[in-house]
Amino acid sequence: MEIAIIAHDGKKTEMVQFLMDFKALLISKKITLISTGTTGKNAEKAGFKVEKFLSGPYGGDAQIAARVAEGKTDMVFFFRDPLGMHPHEPDIAMLMRLCDVHDVPLATNPATAELLIKSI
Ligand code: PGA
Repeated sequence: MEIAIIAHDGKKTEMVQFLMDFKALLISKKITLISTGTTGKNAEKAGFKVEKFLSGPYGGDAQIAARVAEGKTDMVFFFRDPLGMHPHEPDIAMLMRLCDVHDVPLATNPATAELLIKSI
């Protein structure tokens, strides 16, 4: 199973904490993690193996959206910062739209991600 992780800057600490909280489950279920560039670097620093794509503002969200469209990504954890401005808002909207088009579970906050990860 492939899960995409993406966190806006104000949410990166929460993403790493989330991964740490569910580390055992991620390993036992043999989850493959993919991510946007900087989120991935943060996860790697915390000891996780991650396939990194471009940083979000440089197209990373769009790359992950393409994987969702191709049926390669099974779940998306996208911790958005609702208080921040994002130059790549169109890419963010595209990713969320494609999750809906292809009926791929999308968690935009840790509480929802927790419910999803506990379901696998
Ligand atoms: P980043 O991108 O992980 O490279 O910071 C996330 C985003 O802003 O979409």
